[in-house]
Amino acid sequence: MSSTTGKCLCEQISVAVTKEALGTADKIVVCHCKNCRQTGGSLASINVIAPESSVKITGQPKIYQDTNTDSGKPIQRAFCGNCGSPIYTASLSFPGMLIIKLGLFDEIPKPATELYCKGRPTWDKAIDGAKQFDSMPK
Ligand SMILES: [Zn+2]
Ligand SMILES: [Zn+2]
Repeated sequence: MSSTTGKCLCEQISVAVTKEALGTADKIVVCHCKNCRQTGGSLASINVIAPESSVKITGQPKIYQDTNTDSGKPIQRAFCGNCGSPIYTASLSFPGMLIIKLGLFDEIPKPATELYCKGRPTWDKAIDGAKQFDSMPK
């Protein structure tokens, strides 16, 4: 199956995701939660929620166990131990799925969903046409 590959900044870790997974618009998600901001040092995270079977990771990311989560369930945050790029997160809230960081890729599909919008700064605008949630929809 054809896939698209993203890389961390130092290129020691690469992530291939099938075009099918990347083309599933409602799985392209921006998250404005504080944990995503802190781990990325950025305004928000942008992700594709992809089945593990559609993802191939080359290289050995480090895992940070994030226990300070809104759901109370721990989240595994995988990052490059060399350059620090966030690679993916895995959560019991999404069994069998990997939440891949789209900042690693050259082309970023338009998100259909924004989460934890209450964390968005007042000067930042909602993405046109994207569903807005103030937390994680149940
Ligand atoms: Zn790296
Ligand atoms: Zn988040």
